Amino acid sequence: MHDGSLGGVLRLIREGRALTRTDVMDVTGLSRSTVMQRLGVLLEAGLLVEQPEAGPSSGGRRPAALTFNERVGVVLAADLGAEHGRLAIYDLAGVVLAEGNAPLRIADGPDVVLEWVEQRFDELLVEAERAREDVLATAIGVPGPVEDGRPAKPPIMPGWDDYPVAERLSERFGAPALVERDVNAMALGEHRHHWPEIANLVFVKVATGIGAGIITGGELMRGNHGRAGDIGHIRASRESDELCTCGNRGCVAVLASGSAMVRQLHDAGIDVATTADVAALVRAGDPVATHHAREAGRVLGAALAAVVSVVAPSLIIVGGEMGDASEPVIAGIREGVYQQASTLATRHLRVLGTRFAERVGVVGVATLALEHVLDPANVDALLARRGIAA
Ligand SMILES: [Zn+2]
Repeated sequence: MHDGSLGGVLRLIREGRALTRTDVMDVTGLSRSTVMQRLGVLLEAGLLVEQPEAGPSSGGRRPAALTFNERVGVVLAADLGAEHGRLAIYDLAGVVLAEGNAPLRIADGPDVVLEWVEQRFDELLVEAERAREDVLATAIGVPGPVEDGRPAKPPIMPGWDDYPVAERLSERFGAPALVERDVNAMALGEHRHHWPEIANLVFVKVATGIGAGIITGGELMRGNHGRAGDIGHIRASRESDELCTCGNRGCVAVLASGSAMVRQLHDAGIDVATTADVAALVRAGDPVATHHAREAGRVLGAALAAVVSVVAPSLIIVGGEMGDASEPVIAGIREGVYQQASTLATRHLRVLGTRFAERVGVVGVATLALEHVLDPANVDALLARRGIAA
């Protein structure tokens, strides 16, 4: 028997498994009067639209066709990095209605940064010709661990620990707000859009810092306190006495991150200030930058070999400012992983760059928001917010 709840009926139509009233009755086994009541609510709420005589003919007059109204609302998505932010508005079909990106400093703290995010969202709503009342969910990705909608002891986000990010955004826009560690959202976005048939996948972000998002059995693995995938602080070298922001020495992050490469190139007498500078040099084929990028990839690959042994993924996707700019980083990762992990674990393993490039974070948080809004279990709440009783 099919789930005959309001959300269940909406999903049937949204996924194209039912087109007419008769289809809904056939698939759910619900009575005609119950189906009429459910569809009445969904039509009144604007979640469905009806086209007269557009359904398939079964001999007589053609029935009305029901379709999901993808324009009924929007979701707001923000991907915040250490030094930049990308924001976008999506309709419920996953189409971008407006998008923008700008430099920001996450270290300015939540009051400054979130005020900016809220203003940009309002501007994007104007640009997309939508109102605040149309917002059905907000999702925001941050470069650090998250627990219950709040950053949890994030190392590169001073002032953000335990700040009620989700509460603030949901109050401002009158809709549920989701907060996620950025690299988790990236893993989710890649999985849902490009690799839904793959059950186990690891997304590695190589930017100012390093982190991994892990999908096992098709779902995100967050771990205690949202700390799963924090591979930047795996000890990579016993010899290195390079001090990490976490207080330990020889961490992956201190040897292979964008900031590590900035330091290494600086020491080699090359004038670079940011991860973007390093990425640009590698892209331009600078031999010293290429050497360090490949070496960083090897260090990272050796750490990922341990992850591969535990998670047994069939795919590692590399992204982030350094990752998607840099074939040498990906080549180095392949080398490190294949050398250090068992041949059994790597027999069906591929290591690829992200297909979304620098948009992967915003695509990921939008995916999170859309899945939340369209989850059948949340449809009643959505209707209640619009003052419609289920
Ligand atoms: Zn560390």
